[in-house]
Amino acid sequence: SASADWKTFDKSKMYMADLESGLHYLLRVEVATHETLEGDELRVFKDLITILYKLFPGRPHVARLLETLQDWLVSMPLDEIPYNAILDLVNNKMQISGIHLTSRLQWVGCQGSEPGLRGYPCSLWKLFHTLTVQAAAQPNALANTALEDNHGAVLQTMRRYIKHFFGCRDCAGHFESMAKESMDEVKTLNEAVLWLWKKHNKVNKRLAGAASEDPRSPKVDWPTPDMCPACHGEVKGVHEWNEDEVLRFLNQHYGSQDILLRYAD
Ligand code: FAD
Repeated sequence: SASADWKTFDKSKMYMADLESGLHYLLRVEVATHETLEGDELRVFKDLITILYKLFPGRPHVARLLETLQDWLVSMPLDEIPYNAILDLVNNKMQISGIHLTSRLQWVGCQGSEPGLRGYPCSLWKLFHTLTVQAAAQPNALANTALEDNHGAVLQTMRRYIKHFFGCRDCAGHFESMAKESMDEVKTLNEAVLWLWKKHNKVNKRLAGAASEDPRSPKVDWPTPDMCPACHGEVKGVHEWNEDEVLRFLNQHYGSQDILLRYAD
């Protein structure tokens, strides 16, 4: 049963196992539903790999995989790439030393109390929160790439990835309408971090009580007062976020200093 293999974890921490399992799923399952990548899809995929290569706070064997993928995609003059060529690289068919990505789904902070709950969508949120925070911490990280000088690069790439690849098509439609409303107003790297936080809470609010909610992980305004007391304030009896404190909290929570390796292969 699910509870027999329940992994003890700390809700206030990030686990590398979630991020790596998510990357595995993205690269070997989700993108695999497209037999060839061309046009917009290929452009999105290339931009996502650039961002992951520059900003994913990964362990050396994963960082090398992302670097190899990036180098290969940049050197590739083709207008279309068969997915199988990407898979060969992800599986390291060339046996380049020091490259490896787990092929196991090992959810920890994203584990569900029943099969079908949480898992990949949870890890995708965590991945993009992590990337927006990393982008703000390293403002020059995308220099000399096609995404240089674009403070919205992570969000825009997320938007395009969700639109073209995310398996949950309803989710993609909802996310696109939120993006259309206000993503273009994001002007700084910190605003990008806060934009994604705010929209994620909007999704939480909409999904509270829905069938997809895991009772062990209720959808709430996040971070909760016990995680970040200073994030919460009140003006004339009405709840108000302290966004400076929220930003501080997100930088710490999704910063690379604090990602736990427990349960990671
Ligand atoms: P998640 O919402 O997946 O959150 C993962 C973790 O992120 C939480 O455990 C918490 O640690 C942290 N977190 C929570 N809130 C925030 C926040 N505001 N800022 C930063 N970190 C936070 N499902 C649907 O049924 N309908 C939809 O329309 C839909 N749209 C989606 C759109 C996107 C882009 C994505 C990635 C997912 C979407 N989903 C949708 C899935 C849904 O949002 C959840 O991912 C899924 O239900 C699993 O929920 P969860 O309990 O693991 O928490």
